[in-house]
Amino acid sequence: MFFDNASTTKVDKEIIDNLARVNDEYFYNPGGLYRGGRNSREFIENARREILSSLRCDDEFNLIFTGSATEANNLALFGVVKKNTRKILVSMGEHPSVYNTALELRQRGYDVEFVNLDKSGKVDFEDFKAKMTSDVDIVSIMHVSNETGAVNDIESLVLYARSVNKKVVFHTDGVQACGKLSVDLSELGVDMYTISAHKIHGFKGVGALFVKRGIALKPIVYGGGQESGLRSGTENIVGIYSLSKALTLALAEQDNYMAHVLKLKNRFLELLSQTGIKYSVHSDYNCLPYIVSISFLGCRAETVLNMLSDKNVFVGNGSACSSKNSGNRILENMGVSQSETESNLRISFSRNNTLDEIDVLVDEINSVVSEYLIKVR
Ligand code: PLP
Repeated sequence: MFFDNASTTKVDKEIIDNLARVNDEYFYNPGGLYRGGRNSREFIENARREILSSLRCDDEFNLIFTGSATEANNLALFGVVKKNTRKILVSMGEHPSVYNTALELRQRGYDVEFVNLDKSGKVDFEDFKAKMTSDVDIVSIMHVSNETGAVNDIESLVLYARSVNKKVVFHTDGVQACGKLSVDLSELGVDMYTISAHKIHGFKGVGALFVKRGIALKPIVYGGGQESGLRSGTENIVGIYSLSKALTLALAEQDNYMAHVLKLKNRFLELLSQTGIKYSVHSDYNCLPYIVSISFLGCRAETVLNMLSDKNVFVGNGSACSSKNSGNRILENMGVSQSETESNLRISFSRNNTLDEIDVLVDEINSVVSEYLIKVR
């Protein structure tokens, strides 16, 4: 049973069913001038238009397909900095693909500052206001935390940032939000927004960056000039198809999926509260229900994870797509104690999980945690 859906999701069956056909019909290089190439090009441009209209920003934004959301985040930050960029503001809650990029920019001589999180895992608005000075030229703050599911109020953050510096460039990593929350880029007011296919039942290795028209970006990958010169390399046609299809499928049933996942989360927490084991939850009721950050007190997270894995129950520890060392920064910044951090697991649901699976999950957690505590006593 899979409960690490914030790290990746199973590809939707409809996408798999269409894969051979799409691959056959559109295997031609979209750069080819013959009919096959032109058809592949048109197929990509249709997918681009569909994704742009899904986030209700057709006229205002361009969409650049990349090899991952990690790459899109790198493109956003490395691509937008200029020699005369004065200051960059990034939140402490960012995924490593933004956080480490910001550290690298600092290494290269840029003035980079980090905004703290509040106890609920959101950006601390007071700290943001204090650090959002008129010399901040670039801001990067994620929409939904991959660690806790905390949802940042991007619209208000953008409004405040622009009231201080109306030329500020605002980037948002929307990987855990897009396809789950209603996202209207025009309403959010951001200049750049990152998404990823494999978090919403598309293929791994496909991401995209929405870039508002008029934002000057420099590429980080040079070559044949694909994707308006911003991401060279022959386009990943089936990957792009999977992103567009996955998004369409997610949005068509978005409210139903949200209601279903909320039921899963509520049942999980309710059943867990009846077991008598000790835990603390770091995802409050305002968080997106897809992610539950939880500490089983007195238990080493990795051991519990492995014991659950032996029972075929797969849960995450911190940010699984970036291995071992990233989760703590975020929880520590939220004020979570070291012992809770060391015993922290991330349980993340998808629309494919069932209520019956939740019953098994809680049973297995109960038995593993009890067994663990008997052993260490
Ligand atoms: N941003 C967030 C918030 C994520 O959760 C992830 C993956 O976990 C990424 C970026 C990176 O996505 P990708 O695997 O497409 O590079």
